[in-house]
Amino acid sequence: MTGEMGCEQVRELAPELALGIAEGEERDAALRHLSGCSGCRQLVSELSSVGDELLQLAPAHDPPAGFESRVLAGLTEPPRHQSIRPLTRRWQ
Ligand SMILES: [Zn+2]
Repeated sequence: MTGEMGCEQVRELAPELALGIAEGEERDAALRHLSGCSGCRQLVSELSSVGDELLQLAPAHDPPAGFESRVLAGLTEPPRHQSIRPLTRRWQ
């Protein structure tokens, strides 16, 4: 799909734009529309502030740097809270 998006299409896509998960031509077309439509820009920015809060509550995409090494360290060190969950050593 190429060409210009209307407000209706952009507003359907707004949540994805706000969360930064819109991709490709849809995203390009929507951003072109936003550059000339303050109404849709306002909508996306409002959703975006909500999206930031949601992402802080539930970081679903990229694990923070060092995540893997912390997990591995947690597996190789004695657990501090043994009552929560027994340690699983899959490689032994
Ligand atoms: Zn618009």
